[in-house]
Amino acid sequence: MPKEKSAAKLLQEKLCKEPRHAGLILTDDKLSESFAYSESYKKFLDLAKTERESVNVTVEAAKKHGFVEYTEGLKLIPGMKIYRTNRGKSVIFAVIGKADISRGANIIAAHIDVPRVDLKQHPLYEEKEIAYFKTHYYGGIKKYQWTAIPLSLHGVIVKADGEKIEVKIGEEETEPCFVFSDLLPHLSGEQNKRTLNEGIKGEELNLIIGSMPFRDDDVSQKTKLNIANILFEKYGIIEQDFVSAELEIVPAFKARDVGFDRSLVGAYGHDDRVCAYTAFSGILETSNPEKTAICILTDKEETGSDGNTGLKSAYLRYFIADIADAFGVKYRFVLEHSRCLSADVNAAFDPTFPDVVEKGNASYVNYGLVMTKYTGSRGKAGTSDCSAEFVGFVRKLFEDNDIIYQTGELGKVDFGGGGTVAAYLANLGMDVLDIGVPVLSMHSPFELVAKTDVYETYKGFKAFYKS
Ligand code: MN
Ligand code: MN
Repeated sequence: MPKEKSAAKLLQEKLCKEPRHAGLILTDDKLSESFAYSESYKKFLDLAKTERESVNVTVEAAKKHGFVEYTEGLKLIPGMKIYRTNRGKSVIFAVIGKADISRGANIIAAHIDVPRVDLKQHPLYEEKEIAYFKTHYYGGIKKYQWTAIPLSLHGVIVKADGEKIEVKIGEEETEPCFVFSDLLPHLSGEQNKRTLNEGIKGEELNLIIGSMPFRDDDVSQKTKLNIANILFEKYGIIEQDFVSAELEIVPAFKARDVGFDRSLVGAYGHDDRVCAYTAFSGILETSNPEKTAICILTDKEETGSDGNTGLKSAYLRYFIADIADAFGVKYRFVLEHSRCLSADVNAAFDPTFPDVVEKGNASYVNYGLVMTKYTGSRGKAGTSDCSAEFVGFVRKLFEDNDIIYQTGELGKVDFGGGGTVAAYLANLGMDVLDIGVPVLSMHSPFELVAKTDVYETYKGFKAFYKS
């Protein structure tokens, strides 16, 4: 017979509820559902490694689910599903609600740009008969992590006549890939004295793209010429076309299960395609909501959200103004009555590096989606700091829908910090709370998330659209 619980034990369970591992809470069915959901997530990760690819993949899927492109003057009625892309690098999806739009919308915003390495505008050169691309990294990366791993090249090249060439090479095993070299340990005595941050310097990320000379003694720079010739034959481009190109170097490997128990997914760019995918698949399954549901997949978060495809730009405001106009409502009423989740990952507690977080307020893999009231650094500089009332609303929503959630602060006080798009949305007058998935090895070429957390986040977002 089980031992009867003491009064103190019962009181403790009532007053001081300890968080529990999702693997101990979920039923067998729910656990296999979360594992199954990650199979489709992994496919998305492999198909959409850049912001442009993420827009293409989500728009194609949305069209199959009845979303139509919003154009000016389109008559909007409740239940209608619309989308609008912004320069192919960000996109907004919306499902028009039954309620008066002046009561506000339920908005989830995630970003689809990922830290990576971009090509410079004049990238092609040769040194001692090895051909290279010069690069400039994008977002916060630890540069040493990017050497000696297979890389692929994605993006667009716009020729002088305006023709746009799409590039995606290095993903298939039959295609060549590319690599940044590193020094052998035998000769790294001097390099080893550098700080980790300087272990590989920005100007040392030179991408190896070839080593065969053009077979003609008449010219110098034969390896560069040989590569230029291959590029001309393959893409019809000349060297000068790189001036108007956006080419991104990303890891060439695919998303994979990690661990004997397959509980984790390892992949490039969970930050933030994990929140983008969960937010997007949530809106795909949203029909006839009470309030208008909006899913924003934005660009440029990793460099501070500036630029015409980042969330500091007016494109979201314009979209909401267009919806408001369609119903004869002032858009500011929509903005100030809207609720928003800033969908962004958080740093998961890493037992190998425990000292950077305060354990009572860190997030943990497999403990559910992470709710972060404030981000920022030092004395909460740069945060929008969500109000207790809105945190309370979201918390109740998750509890009512059996969503496993935890809280997470990005590191110890004064240890660094970071921000999300939350502040830019809150600056528009809406209530905004950060919600996301805990990630290990964030911003590395191979980040880790737990399948249960991904699924709880998806369920949480779905419940929010319906709220
Ligand atoms: Mn990030
Ligand atoms: Mn992020």
